[in-house]
Parts: sequence; C-alpha cells; structure tokens
Amino acid sequence: MKKILILPGDGIGPEIVAEARKVLDCLRADHGLQVEVEEGLLGGCAVDAEGAPLPESTLGKAKQADAILLGAVGGPKWDSIERDLRPERGLLGIRAALELYANLRPAVLFPALASASTLRPEVVAGLDIMIVRELTGGIYFGQPRGIRTLDNGERQGFNTEVYSESEIERIGRTAFEAARKRGGRVCSVDKANVLEVSELWREVMERVARDYPDVALSHMYVDNAAMQLVRDPRQFDVIVTGNLFGDILSDTAAMLTGSIGMLPSASLNAAGRGMYEPIHGSAPDIAGKGVANPLATIMSLGMMLRYSLDEVALAQRVQQAVERVIEYGLRTADIAGDHTSPVSTAEMGDAVVAALALN
Ligand code: NAD
Repeated sequence: MKKILILPGDGIGPEIVAEARKVLDCLRADHGLQVEVEEGLLGGCAVDAEGAPLPESTLGKAKQADAILLGAVGGPKWDSIERDLRPERGLLGIRAALELYANLRPAVLFPALASASTLRPEVVAGLDIMIVRELTGGIYFGQPRGIRTLDNGERQGFNTEVYSESEIERIGRTAFEAARKRGGRVCSVDKANVLEVSELWREVMERVARDYPDVALSHMYVDNAAMQLVRDPRQFDVIVTGNLFGDILSDTAAMLTGSIGMLPSASLNAAGRGMYEPIHGSAPDIAGKGVANPLATIMSLGMMLRYSLDEVALAQRVQQAVERVIEYGLRTADIAGDHTSPVSTAEMGDAVVAALALN
C-alpha cells in the first residue's frame, strides 16, 4: 500500500492541511483510495519541539513515503534564529534529500474568478500555464556561499549560480514531457546575454529538444519573460527555468490568477515520488483566524493523486469538486472581492467534500 506523509508545518499550514485531510479521508472512506497516512514535523514547529527544522524522524518518514503533503513553514517567531535552524532550511533540506528537482506549478485561471485577477479579464481569461522550475540546483544551493570580511574590513555576501549539464537535461526533459501532454510548446527562460551558466542552459535545452520534434522550443531572457507574463500571459504553454528565476516568475504567474491561495505545486524526483504543497507561505498575518483559502492545498492533494499515486480518475474528481464549489459562488476572503460574504477555511473544505459526492 502506498504511504503518504503529511507535514502541516507552521502558520496557516495546520488549518489548510486539515481541510485537505478531510478530502483525503473522504476518498479513503467512499472512493476506494487505499493509502497509509502518517504525520510529521517540519519547519518552525519542528525547531520548537525537536531543535531542528528537519528532524531525523521526519527525514526517515519522508524517505519511506511515496508522497508528502506539506502545508507551509516559517513565520516571524523563527526569523531571527541561527540561519541553519530557520524553517526554510528544513524545506530546502527535504527537497535536497529526496532529490525533488522538478517543481511543477500550474497557473490556471478559473473562469468564475477572472475578475479576481489584477489584470483585465480579456488579458487573462482562459489562462493555463505550467511553470517547470528546477528546484535542487542553481544559486540556492551553489557553493561557495556565505558572508565574508574583505581586507578593507567591509563585509561581502556571495552566492554561486551553478548548473551542470545533467541537471539542465533532466529538468528539460520534464518540461518537454509536460508540453507533450499540453499545448506542445516549451519556452526556456534564462539570462544567456549575461551569464555563462545560462549559455550552457540554452545549449543543453537545444540538445534535449532534438529528442522532442513534436514540441516547439523557444528561448526568452528572464527580464522579458517577467514583462511578457503581465503583458500577454496566454502566449505561454510550458515555461522551464532555473531555481531563482522560477521562484520569481511563478509568483508573478500566481498573481495573474487572482489568488495565491488557489495554486498547487508538485515537486518530483526521478522515481516519481513527490512533495505536494500550495505555492504560498505560512501567512502569519491570517494564521489562527480560520479565513485561509484551503483550495491550493486541496488541489496539491489532487496533483499527488495524479503524479505519485496513479489515481488519475480521483485527481479529476478532486479538481471537479473544487471547480464546482467555485461555480456555486463559495469564496474565502482572499477571492471574495467586494461582492460575496466569505466562507471560512473549514466551510470551504466541507463544501469540497460535499461536492466530491456529487461527481
Ligand atoms: P505568504 O504566501 O505566506 O503570504 C503572502 C500574502 O498572501 C499574505 O497576505 C497572506 O495572508 C496571503 N495568503 C497566503 N496564503 C493564503 C491563503 N491560503 N489564503 C488566503 N491568503 C493567503 O508569504 P510571506 O508573507 O512572504 O511569507 C510568510 C512566511 O511564509 C515566511 O516565514 C516565509 O518564509 C514563509 N514561506 C514559506 C513557504 C513554504 O512553506 N513553501 C513559501 C513562501 C514563504
């Protein structure tokens, strides 16, 4: 039986994960899903309880699991502690330990939410982009890194942007495979006019493209890509890029859809095991108030069903249930606009569970 590890994390993490758990329990009870489920600590809560953001016990469970569902980690309480103990280190640690190198972030605009975008509806209606971000390399992991003191006494911070051919090739293949199942186009985003690492990135992408003659490859500099994402986002199908550029562009794409609370993500390794999480953070400003949007986490569970559990029919069922509650007009505060009175986190989760029975 496949094993799922649930890591609620910090801030709104436990609130939104509780709603995804309701959906998971419903799928197990009523829709024949057979999985073992256990929970663990990651992030600030793990620092408090065990003195480390990624305790050995959690890492052990993560290595045994076929898939992990994560809420979010971090918060002001842990912002000023020693860098190695920060909650984000736990997140980076688990990504690195499991070699979750491919981060898939769909940015899809639900028709009923077109007015929630800050862009005009005619620019974003029907938006359906997949951003494939490299997640275990680049400047977030490159050595050397640190803060050093120069001979003149001034301090200097430094990091290293580094990508090997094999790292570029495997994320390239992930993007081309994804494009094959979608619109057949990959746009590779880099900064090849300035960075040598991007020159190599471009060369390897061209090489990988030869194995996918049915997919069209284009290249774009990251500054232009940022501009094009807000000017005419529907020109894109699959965007593939490195860790740093992907971090920024995927948040821009998130905003196009109107709410950061609506966007799931998958981080996969070569074996198809993965960690699934909403793209947003722990939202300390609204934690504990019961107002957070749980849909990104519920749709992350949907991605888990599709990519790690081979339960495509159940994945579609979850997606349809989410679409249905949106069509009914249910809105948490972040997507309510001025018109609707918002529902709570728990009410939204209950509505998705109720909609599952209708499919
Ligand atoms: P954030 O995503 O937590 O919040 C940004 C804004 O979006 C806030 O106003 C928040 O209230 C709102 N928001 C986010 N998720 C929401 C949801 N589900 N429903 C409704 N509103 C939502 O980003 P931030 O404020 O920059 O970071 C807060 C903390 O989260 C920091 O400690 C940061 O390091 C951490 N963080 C964690 C992850 C992760 O766990 N993957 C990702 C990003 C940030």
